[in-house]
Order: sequence, then structure tokens, then C-alpha cells
Amino acid sequence: MKELEDRIRREGTIKPGNVLKVDAFLNHQCDVALYDAMGRAWAEHFAGKNITKILTIEASGIGIACVAARHFGDVPVIFAKKAQSINLDGDQYVSTVYSFTKQREFPVIVSRKYLGPDDHVLLIDDFLANGKALHGLIDICEHAGATVEGIGIAIEKGFQGGGDELRSLGYDVDSLAVVDSMDPQNGTIEFRA
Ligand code: 5GP
Repeated sequence: MKELEDRIRREGTIKPGNVLKVDAFLNHQCDVALYDAMGRAWAEHFAGKNITKILTIEASGIGIACVAARHFGDVPVIFAKKAQSINLDGDQYVSTVYSFTKQREFPVIVSRKYLGPDDHVLLIDDFLANGKALHGLIDICEHAGATVEGIGIAIEKGFQGGGDELRSLGYDVDSLAVVDSMDPQNGTIEFRA
């Protein structure tokens, strides 16, 4: 998606440890018109799939997923919570995710009330790096007996391999910008054609 690539080039910064910072429009300040265009792009890609729920992970995925839902008939958005919460009643699907940015493992939880075997799920997240967050969400869908219909990602860092591994497993991964390389020395970012 050219608009997203242009924004990354203009406003993204490369941090140590292969972290791309896009706080100006995605991870801190939210450009809702851009989110809307992203949602429209995923709706075109996944047209014809009967999506009943969108599943994401807190926190950055939530806003993106909620705007995207407007393009999928306002289906409910569920976000996996990153720790045990007193608001949940113990009847939960649980998986474990290793966080790329925080470099530690944490449990992710979805209430059984909101996901079940009849659901056809679109997974959405802001970034795809090694694929750990998505494997956690896929694991939760498997526990629920739900079908993963596809995966919508804003920015995939293709050089970290998580996206291609998911594609090789048969998942339909639609990443709107795929970074093939980024050079912290001179700040250049190359995208997959
Ligand atoms: P993965 O689990 O695929 O290794 O990493 C994806 C998760 O880590 C995303 O949910 C995202 O929040 C975070 N993440 C991974 N790489 C980056 C990055 O370069 N920049 C930012 N802002 N978040 C990232």
C-alpha cells in the first residue's frame, strides 16, 4: 500500500534491535484516515470470506482492528489481553507469547464467551516480525475451534521471516507494507515489490 510505505519512509525511525518506530501515525498518535484506508484494503483482499470476528492483541492492534471492522460489516473485535485480568471470570483460552519489543514471555487470554467453533476469524495486528504474537492468536483460535480465515498486517518486517513462515503453513497473510531491509546507519528502508 503506497500510502503506508510513504508514511513509513517519511515518518518512521529505525531503532536498535531491528525496531521500526512509527509512533507518528500508528503506535502512539493514530491516523484514523490511514487506518480506514488500511481496513478498506484488507476488505478488498479478503472479499468473499465470511468473517464473523476480528481478533487482535492489545494494545496497538485494537484501534486498527476497530476501524477495519467497519469494512467487515461491523463484526465484533476481540483483543487478546496480555495478562490475567480480574475482569475475566477464569473461563478463558490461554496461550503464551514471546514479546519482540519487551523481550519476555507473557500469557495472552481470550474469554470463551467471545470465541467459539462457529467463528471465522480475521487476525489483525500492527506489526509482524518473527510471528510469535500471531502464533499465540492462532493457538487461541485452535483452542476455540474457530477457523482462521486470514491475517491482516499493517507492517511486516519480511527479513525476520515470521510472515513467510505463516504463508508456508497455508495462512493468507495480507501485509500492507513489507519491509525487506532497513539500515539504521543511513535510515533507508527498502520495501518488497
Ligand atoms: P512478532 O511476534 O511477530 O515477533 O512481533 C510482532 C509484535 O511485536 C507486534 O504485536 C508488535 O507490537 C511488536 N513489534 C515487532 N516488531 C516491531 C517493530 O519494529 N516496531 C514496533 N513498533 N512494534 C514491533
